[in-house]
Amino acid sequence: MPVDPLSLFTIPLTLALAALFSAAVAYDFITFRRRRKNGNQAVYRCDACRHIYTVPRRTPLAPCPKCGKQNEPVKE
Ligand SMILES: [Zn+2]
Repeated sequence: MPVDPLSLFTIPLTLALAALFSAAVAYDFITFRRRRKNGNQAVYRCDACRHIYTVPRRTPLAPCPKCGKQNEPVKE
């Protein structure tokens, strides 16, 4: 049974993309943990929709990713 030349190309490509994606996820996870350890992240709670989110750098105001309202950081 002859091997389809298209699958010869797409299977390694799919595997390479999956490997790259998992590497990106792992990198994101590691840097996120490192930032948390440094304590630079600020926690915000949206007054409008109660969404809780973090921002890498503490700023006086940060927009809510869900509704866009500007919120002050939660006091810690
Ligand atoms: Zn919101």
